[in-house]
Amino acid sequence: MANTYQNLQKSHPCFGGNKNTVGRIHLPVSPGCNISCKFCDRRINDEEERPGVTSKVLTPSQALEVLDKALTLCPEITVAGIAGPGDTLATDYALETFRLVKEHHPELIKCMSTNGLLLFERADEIIEIGVESVTVTVNAVDPEIEAKLNRWILYHGRIYEGVQAAEILIENQLKGIKKIADAGITVKVNTVLVPNINGAHIEDIAKAVKEAGACIYNIIPLIPQSELSHETAPVCQEIDEARTMAGKHIDVFRHCQHCRADAVGMLGGKDFGDMIYQRRIAGS
Ligand code: SF4
Ligand code: SF4
Repeated sequence: MANTYQNLQKSHPCFGGNKNTVGRIHLPVSPGCNISCKFCDRRINDEEERPGVTSKVLTPSQALEVLDKALTLCPEITVAGIAGPGDTLATDYALETFRLVKEHHPELIKCMSTNGLLLFERADEIIEIGVESVTVTVNAVDPEIEAKLNRWILYHGRIYEGVQAAEILIENQLKGIKKIADAGITVKVNTVLVPNINGAHIEDIAKAVKEAGACIYNIIPLIPQSELSHETAPVCQEIDEARTMAGKHIDVFRHCQHCRADAVGMLGGKDFGDMIYQRRIAGS
């Protein structure tokens, strides 16, 4: 595969690419989710600047129109990403969109994020479409800890809860990472850091995902909301300590911007979403 991790470090803003010269667009085509993270709060609005938020959900063909418009406004975009607002594999829309992107803009890097529940069983499609980079959110590799972060999963038509759900999720995440990494896809892992729950577990996660084939690791500080609204967000020192523990095993990404599911432009720079969706982003 042409886009190795080394290439992506130059051309992909989320893998270390120069944030001032390369940008990304998120196409919000994936409405539903198949797991229930206790901190998740998906919203459709114009104001909030965090993951899981979008102005609207697009169909794959609308996403292509938005992409064309975005490339005119911001030719620096090198990455077409899909990061929600739900899970990219819970419905077929993300992979359909990537097929359109591949056909109409083969020069763009295709990047997606997923909770990984269906990563193993949909890996062949992801490989065949030529998705170059996949981010998997792995919040624990110990089912007892994961069960404190996730209420349930919907898997093959059945709801599983607690530790049983966590066991299935973790197994599929690690098997899925291995399968796509073996095929040459660059895998980044995100972990939502909840100090009281997985704070002491970060090194175990980093080690396990590195062994499975991930090459870069990103710690996302908890935004206390939903069922975890009583938890405290990590302070800078806790984030630094977690990064140091993870860094013993895997490269650590340090510039997470908490992007919306419909972000457009340079990481941390001007967001063109206001022009594309006529939305208003505070501070942009
Ligand atoms: Fe929300 Fe993402 Fe968790 Fe699904 S995987 S519940 S969209 S945070
Ligand atoms: Fe890809 Fe995630 Fe970066 Fe979006 S935020 S471009 S999905 S790595």
